Parts: sequence; C-alpha cells; structure tokens
Amino acid sequence: MGLLTEGTPLSWEETKKLASHVREHGIKQFINIYKKLKERKGDVLKWGDEIEYIIVKFEHEKQEAKVSLRAVEMLEVLNEAEIQNPNTVKFLWRPEFAAYMIEGTPGKPYGGTLAHFNVVESNMRNRREEASELLKENECLMTLTSFPRLGCPNFTVPPSQPTPNEGGTKSLFFPDAAVFPGHPRFMNLVRNIRKRRGEHVAINLPVFRDKNTKIPVDDSHRIRKAALPDCVYLDAMGFGMGCCCLQLTFQACNIDEARILYDQLTPLCPIMLAFSAASPIHRGFLTDIDCRWNIISGSVDCRTEEERGLKPLKENKFVIKKSRYDSIDSYLSPQGEKYNDIPILYNEEDYRKLRDNGIDHLLAQHIAHLFIRDTVSLFSEKINQNDEEDTDHFENIQSTNWQTMRFKPPPPHSTIGWRVEFRPCEVQVTDFENAAIVCFVVLLTRVILSYQLNFLIPISKVDENIQNAQKRNALKDQKFWFRKDITTDVSPPEANQCCKGTKCETTECDLIGLMTVNEIINGKQGEFPGLIPLINSYLNGMDVDADTHCTIQQYLKFIQKRASGEIHTTASFIRDFVTNHPNYKQDSVVSDEINYDLLTTLKDIEHGEKSCPELLGYSATSKTRENIPHALKNDF
Ligand code: ADP
Ligand code: MG
Ligand code: MG
Repeated sequence: MGLLTEGTPLSWEETKKLASHVREHGIKQFINIYKKLKERKGDVLKWGDEIEYIIVKFEHEKQEAKVSLRAVEMLEVLNEAEIQNPNTVKFLWRPEFAAYMIEGTPGKPYGGTLAHFNVVESNMRNRREEASELLKENECLMTLTSFPRLGCPNFTVPPSQPTPNEGGTKSLFFPDAAVFPGHPRFMNLVRNIRKRRGEHVAINLPVFRDKNTKIPVDDSHRIRKAALPDCVYLDAMGFGMGCCCLQLTFQACNIDEARILYDQLTPLCPIMLAFSAASPIHRGFLTDIDCRWNIISGSVDCRTEEERGLKPLKENKFVIKKSRYDSIDSYLSPQGEKYNDIPILYNEEDYRKLRDNGIDHLLAQHIAHLFIRDTVSLFSEKINQNDEEDTDHFENIQSTNWQTMRFKPPPPHSTIGWRVEFRPCEVQVTDFENAAIVCFVVLLTRVILSYQLNFLIPISKVDENIQNAQKRNALKDQKFWFRKDITTDVSPPEANQCCKGTKCETTECDLIGLMTVNEIINGKQGEFPGLIPLINSYLNGMDVDADTHCTIQQYLKFIQKRASGEIHTTASFIRDFVTNHPNYKQDSVVSDEINYDLLTTLKDIEHGEKSCPELLGYSATSKTRENIPHALKNDF
C-alpha cells in the first residue's frame, strides 16, 4: 500500500452518510483515469513483490514467544532513508494492520530481463537484514503467515489485554493495542466494519479433531451466540488482517494485456494458495484448515444482515454472496467473458455512467461491481476532491475490495502503467521459498503471454477451488478444476456449459478436468503438460547467464518437489512439528511451550542454522546476488 497520508477519520455515522458521495465521485474519477490512460501503451514488464513480517519476541527464560508491538518505532527509522533519498533506497517499508507487522518491498520494481530473477532473493535477504538491525535483544523478524497464539492470553510484548466492552475492537481476545497505532486508518476500519455489519465479525474455524480434543473447544459459545462449540471462534479484524502474505504486482504493456494477465492468473490463485498454505494454527489451536484466506475474508466482512440474506432487504439494495475480501467475481478480457458464470451485482446507474463514457461492458461491470461496497473509511480532508485530478474516492473503494487479483490503473501523472496484482499466496518462512514462488509466478506470466496460453475455466469453478485449497493438506488430498486444453481458445457455447453442451458441474470434459496440484505443476502424462515443463520449454529458447540459470533451476526444482508432495508445505510441516512434539497432548492445543519450540525452529531454519530438507529439499541454495552485472541487460 502507498505511503499513508495522515488525516482525521470521520465517525461511522458521518462516513455512512457520505457513501453515495464517494460512489458518485469514485466512479467519475475512474472514468477520468480511463479516458486519459486507455490508450497508454509501450510500457515494459516491471514487477515487484511485497512481503509482510511479524516482529516476534522470544522470552527464553519462560520458553515463550510473543508478538512485539514495535512496528511504529521501527518504521519511523526505516522510513527515514526513503524520506532522504526516495529514488535510491533499496527497500520501501510500509505499515500494516497490526502493531507487530511491517511490510517491505524492493526500492524499485524489477525489470524485464531474466537476470532480475537472480537479485530477488538477495533483495529479500538484505531487506530482512535492514529491518532486523533495529530489533532488540531476543527479537526476530519472521515471515509467518499466522502467529500461532494470536489472541491467546498475554500474546503481546508489552503486555496488553483485550477490552470486550470498550474501545475499537471490542474483542474477547484481540487487544486494541495490537492494532497499528501509527495511523488512524486501521482502527477506523475495525470500528466501521463492525458498525456497518451491526455486530462483531465472526469466524468459526473447524478445530482439528485429535484423540483428546475437547469439544467445546472453549467457552466462547457461552458468551457469543455467533461462536460454534466445535470451532475456534475469532471475533476481530486482527485475526485476519494480522496475518502476513506474499503479493506480486506486474506491469503490462497496455490495458488489454493487463486484462489478459488478470484473467489468466485467476485460475492459478487457488492453486498457489494450496501450494503456499502456511497457516494451520489459530488462537492456539490446530485447525482443520491450512490457509488464512477465509479468515481474512470473515475478518472484514462488513455485510449487514440484509446483505447476508438473513433478513429481508429493506435498507440495503442487494444480497451479496461474498465479503469484500474474496476471490474475484468476473473476468475482464473478451476471452474471459464466456466464463463469467456467476451473477455480478452492480447498480444499474453506475454501470450506465461507465458505459455512457465509452467503457466496455466487461470493465464497466467490474468497476460497478467494486462499487457495490460502501466506503468504510473516510477522512475529512478527502471529502471534496477535484475529480479531474484526484483519485482518492476511486482508490478508497478499490483498495478495500481485497480480492485474489487486483486490476490497477496507472496513477495519475506517473510513469507507471496498467498493472495487475497477484494476491493469494501465503508468506513462506525463508527468503529462498518466497523468491522461488515469486520467480515462478513471474515466469508463468511470460509463458502465458509468449505462448498465448489459455487457463480460463468458469469463475464458479475457481470459487470452488478457492474453498478446497484451504482444507487441511489440500496440496496432497484435493483435486482442483483446471483447464486441460490450454493451447486453444475453445470456449463453452454458453456460460456454465462445458464443451459437450452439458452443464459444467461435476463432470469432467475435454476442456476442464479435476487435477491435483502435482499434476497441474508437474504435468500428467497424456493429459496436461504441467506448468514447470512449460516454463522450462520457454526458458530453453532464452539466453541467460549461468548464475541466473542455476538460481532459476533451483527455484523450479523446489517448486516441483513441493508440488509433488516430496517435501512438506509450510502448513504440513507446522502440523507435523506440533503433533510430534513430546509435550503435545493430542488435544489440538498449541501451548506456549510448543509455540516457542516451533518458532525457534522456524527461526533457525530461516537463519540457515538448521537444515530442513523435509521443508526445503536438499539443495535450497541459489546463486542470488545483490546487483545485476552490467553485461546482462537484454529484455525478454
Ligand atoms: P499496493 O497496491 O499493494 O499497495 P504498491 O503500489 O505499494 O502496491 O506496490 C506494490 C508492488 O508493486 C511493489 O512490489 C512494487 O515494487 C511494485 N511496483 C512498483 N512500481 C511498479 C510498476 N511500475 N510496475 C509493476 N510493479 C511495480
Ligand atoms: Mg499489495
Ligand atoms: Mg500489505
């Protein structure tokens, strides 16, 4: 997220009154952006990653690990370099939702030469080191998707207590002090989302049922009617937005290429979610899910009872199926249109305005659909804007539609082009793994564009995959809808119909089949070539220096092994660690002691002090380097 300008947040009541103002001007602003920039072309591939970190504090004498609420303090120092030298810093640092989180990106996006793949991991490593220099004794910057004991008693340093009856969060478990206090946006979102919804957000995660697991898992269901007895109940935005992820943004050469990338990467979102699964433990319990996705989705679900279909519509206009954090609802490229098989809600008036201003159906429906969400955060300084120049109202709604993919128009008056963001991945423990995932996905975009591959499947199938991807051990146990025929443009005669004209529901057909992550990534003889073999054949035709070649091959080998199940996903590694811990009581409980041992182990693996072939394979090293040698500047 861009640097946050400070300001004065409006109360929920004031914000609510201005919802249609934001909608009206946000749409106008998009129309103006579109008119100015629709013809923009000739941009080259640029791309960058975003990594979120948790500041962990180890209390060795007590054998406990906690989150350290020092993000504000650290960011003040980290941002100093950027303020002094905005164009030459190696890393950019941003606040995130929680007071124990920071986000880092490369100082400048990477460019379109293969040699850039060889600097990614080094940048990640140096980034981690730069921030780590500000750590206090026994603190560690960790790339954990979820902090296992988030919301357990005394999980923060300094100690803080939840305040169920007052403050912003009003959670049974998550203290206000754990929300990033350096900018009002975050607490404002917490409050407004709860107020708009009319009650606490509620997430019920099925507990992993072991031999001695106690049901009910705790007393939550006695206190809150939303809590289910056999689930781990979470009641605060922090349980979701306090998780960390790995994101990627790509610049396309023009708007049409951006639409293609947006669409083609969509079916890969669930696959990469299952692949990167890293968060099986929540609020001190092993759960039956491996990923953060639905938790974040629930943690910002601001839909009212009417919108959730629990009451007849009176004040609200729509029953809305998904939270504002979820998988995308529609494709944007002409090729994708036939696969838009779920109803797309929007205000007819908004859609009309967009259409009347020359915006085609697919884009108009996408933008109008984003605007079915009301603003949940508005600052008094930003109410009145010049729609010709400002884009804050558009960005207000765009940046609070947290979906698997994001279609990003160029910022006004900048050198940046049309971009798409790939948002499903969970963050991995080591820079090696994160760099491998990043390079894999960027290479896929090159393969898709060069070979004009077609991964499209009905959007309803992508939704189904997103749910399956989060199940325990999905990588090994689940099958996913995936397109078999990726070299043709053949599409179903009608939305939601498969190539044989039957309804695309459970049956496989020539076009789409059910595959494991292994089959998708490594291939299935006679049926599907596999993403890695496709990347390798693309790379065969490329001129690349020996070091970069070696690094890419190491990354691809690692991806292959993880996809095949030869090595663990982060989630299954964590599960195994817990269930094999000598003090685990087969009761799904991840005690302070187990948490401490787990985090110590993950820290040692990250620091290279402990080898861990079962997570990383035997050769998880690359030839990554800090800079690209001068001679290697040919574009791909
Ligand atoms: P967000 O929309 O998530 O707030 P940012 O605008 O902060 O994203 O940028 C996120 C990522 O985009 C970073 O990794 C950054 O390196 C990358 N990035 C910056 N400029 C470009 C560009 N012109 N093209 C592609 N990626 C870019
Ligand atoms: Mg982002
Ligand atoms: Mg972020």
